[in-house]
Amino acid sequence: MPETPTMPETPTRRIQVNLSGQTAIVTGASRGIGKEIALALGKSGARVACVARNEEKLQATVDEIAAASGSAEAFPLNVTDSAAVQQLVEKINDDWGKVDIVVNNAGITRDTLLPRMSDEEWDDVIATNLRSVFLFSRAAMQAMMRKRYGRIINISSVSGIMGNPGQANYSASKAGIIGFTQTVAREIAKRKVTVNAICPGFVATEMTDALGPVVQDEVKKRVPAKRLGQAEEIADAVLYLASESGSYITGQVLVIDGGLTA
Ligand code: NAP
Repeated sequence: MPETPTMPETPTRRIQVNLSGQTAIVTGASRGIGKEIALALGKSGARVACVARNEEKLQATVDEIAAASGSAEAFPLNVTDSAAVQQLVEKINDDWGKVDIVVNNAGITRDTLLPRMSDEEWDDVIATNLRSVFLFSRAAMQAMMRKRYGRIINISSVSGIMGNPGQANYSASKAGIIGFTQTVAREIAKRKVTVNAICPGFVATEMTDALGPVVQDEVKKRVPAKRLGQAEEIADAVLYLASESGSYITGQVLVIDGGLTA
């Protein structure tokens, strides 16, 4: 009997795309999934604007891209600040000549059951996760329409599709991203700008570290793949959607969850 091949616990291959000459903005690039996306885009040849609040960690992402012979710069800002977002996108467009790719990844959780959810917990999550997607997409849209090219990739979540107890604010923000993505995709498709959403399941980052080992073990039991996802697995999907191969994919929701929602 031939031996059944076993799947590796972590991904060992990365898809190869050529993004030379392109510019990209990645929010939440200081750690976790956003950092991995920034590294993947930078290593694929794109010039990457790395956005988040923690300057030191952003610089670490930039340095890692530079060490791999890529090009990146840190832009510390709060993604909920309308004027700062508009200014940054205009700066990239003016100084770098265009805005090809925007990855709206910055996000937070403020989990609690609805009766205990404060106004602030609701507003913070909606502002960081959903308002930021609106602000960056609106700002980039002008530049992309002029160039008749663009890729907007919004990081939603399976919580936005199936809901999750304790996450009414987070699920609403992530479901909002899906509706936003589908609508803007329809508005702008004829200008060769694609707008898509990715819904990760549980991915190993500081966000899921906060769940603790007991909940993480429960999660692994629920996921058909019996493991958490890796940030690289989300970054690879971003590379594909950002590449020339993604030209005819728009308004779509790509779920990457080890079968959780299957
Ligand atoms: P993470 O490790 O907590 O990182 C979140 C990132 O967002 C950080 O870079 C953080 O940077 C940035 N950020 C948060 N608030 C910000 C603000 N106001 N302004 C600017 N940047 C801000 O989270 P992650 O797990 O990588 O998640 C990344 C995205 O994937 C999020 O949208 C999350 O909802 C989504 N997602 C994650 C999972 C998962 O299992 N991990 C599953 C589904 C979806 P600073 O703190 O430096 O500002």
